[in-house]
Amino acid sequence: MHQLHFKLESTILNANAKFRENQLSRGVFMKRTDGKYAIKRTRSGLGFFALEPIPKGKKIIEYTGPYITNEECEQRYGKYFFGVNSRWSIDGSPRSNLARYINHSCAPNAEAIISGRRVWIWSRRNIKAGEEITYDYGKEYFEDIIKPMGCKCVKCSPPRVDAR
Ligand SMILES: [Zn+2]
Repeated sequence: MHQLHFKLESTILNANAKFRENQLSRGVFMKRTDGKYAIKRTRSGLGFFALEPIPKGKKIIEYTGPYITNEECEQRYGKYFFGVNSRWSIDGSPRSNLARYINHSCAPNAEAIISGRRVWIWSRRNIKAGEEITYDYGKEYFEDIIKPMGCKCVKCSPPRVDAR
C-alpha cells in the first residue's frame, strides 16, 4: 500500500487551541456526539481514543477531506495528506476529519484500508474502552518523518513503569 502521509506538529497545536472551548475534562479535547470516541492528550500530542469496546474487523471512522493531486501535495506544508492512488490524495486537514488524530504505531490495533478513493480505518483486533486507536502510517512515512525524530509508539518506546 502506497501512502503519502505528512503531518506537522504545528497544525495539531493550532487545531488544539480551537478545541479548547469543547474541553470536557482534563486531557479530553473533544468527544464525538455519539460518545464513542474522544480526542485526548498523549505522550506525543493528541490521539484518538475509543470510549467503548470495538470488535475486531469493524469500520471505525472514515479519513475525509477534499481530493487534491499528488503534485499539489508536494507543494503544500502543514497539512495532512493521505495518498489513495498514483494520482490523488485526500487533504485531511479539515477540522471535521477526526481520523487525522489517529497516531502511528508499529504495533497498531487498527489499519487504514483504501476502498476505491475512500479511506476507512478498521479495527484489526478487539479494542478495549479507553485504548488509543492507532494504525501503521506505512514504510515511506515512517522512514522519512517518524524515524528521524524517534518513534514514540508503545512498541518502540514503552511507557516507563515508574512514570506516574
Ligand atoms: Zn514505533
